Amino acid sequence: MTTNVEGSHFPARHWHRQEDGRIQCDVCPRACKLADGQRGLCFVRARVGEQMVLTTYGRSSGFCIDPIEKKPLNHFLPGTPVLSFGTAGCNLTCKFCQNWDISKAREFDRLVDGAPPERIAQAAKALGCRSVAFTYNDPVIFLEYAVDTARACRALGIKTVAVTAGYITPKAGAEFFAEMDAANVDLKAFTEDFYRTICGGHLGAVLDTLLYLKHHTKVWFEITTLLIPGENDSESEIDSISRWVVESLGPDVPVHFSAFHPDWKMADKPHTEGGILSRARSIAKANGIRHVYTGNVQDANGGSTWCHGCGALLIGRDWYELSTWGLDEDGRCRACGTPLAGRFEPAPGTWGRRRQPVRLQG
Ligand code: SF4
Repeated sequence: MTTNVEGSHFPARHWHRQEDGRIQCDVCPRACKLADGQRGLCFVRARVGEQMVLTTYGRSSGFCIDPIEKKPLNHFLPGTPVLSFGTAGCNLTCKFCQNWDISKAREFDRLVDGAPPERIAQAAKALGCRSVAFTYNDPVIFLEYAVDTARACRALGIKTVAVTAGYITPKAGAEFFAEMDAANVDLKAFTEDFYRTICGGHLGAVLDTLLYLKHHTKVWFEITTLLIPGENDSESEIDSISRWVVESLGPDVPVHFSAFHPDWKMADKPHTEGGILSRARSIAKANGIRHVYTGNVQDANGGSTWCHGCGALLIGRDWYELSTWGLDEDGRCRACGTPLAGRFEPAPGTWGRRRQPVRLQG
């Protein structure tokens, strides 16, 4: 007998049957163990009869053309538009979630726009987007939909970007990241206690994902840490994060320290002051990270890209708007010839800071 489960019943991958009859999902380290009709913590993966299904395949909470810098990615096709979308649900339970209306969605009426993978790829091409981003909620939980969309995009020459917390098992991660061209990975803090008590996860799994990306894939990735006053913004924690990044991933992985705004279950916390972001940037740079950015604040200095060889301004940014372009056609500093790590085209895009909602259905 099959219990009624709302949503699409797209066959899910990465699960196995347990001896007690339950089915365990192997997509993320939560390892939800489900009886018939039960959903995982992410809400969108469920057991229907004797198999796991993805209930959000082909449905989106909305599409928007964003600047690629908004993901944030500062070293991946700068200035270009990216067709961005998400679905519903999340596999972490962050109390500070900045997209909680989507990530905590339990009602499928939030999934307003139907979009099979091929239509997304065709729309991106027709709209002049260089890439498609899986964002707003974590694409790990809609892996099959994201992977099929990435393949459809690749067939049309469109790149794909995953905006993710990196909370995924090694096996599922290998399938997922094999199809991605770029990623922004949230490194939410550098203590197991923060991940356990505030996010309901484990730091180690996220570090493993970052190590995998660096050492076993060609995915271009950048890291974002949202600094929450009093929770993860101490000098010692920033020091620990940045030392780990340099030692484990190398100096060329860009790091973004972005400002928190009070939201969800942390509405009582203050905004992150600009000075805290600048201090974090200084610590990380002193520890050897070459490209450290401040985010969610207006800071032309902390938002711009500077040559680590000679200090010249390579990519000027004011919010998401590009100004100066100091790279040659090969992505090197025009002043001293030092290459800039990342994925660049001979000229920058001209999308600017616009956000443009689009409907794909109909
Ligand atoms: S992806 Fe969802 S169902 Fe699977 S283990 Fe993670 S939270 Fe549970």
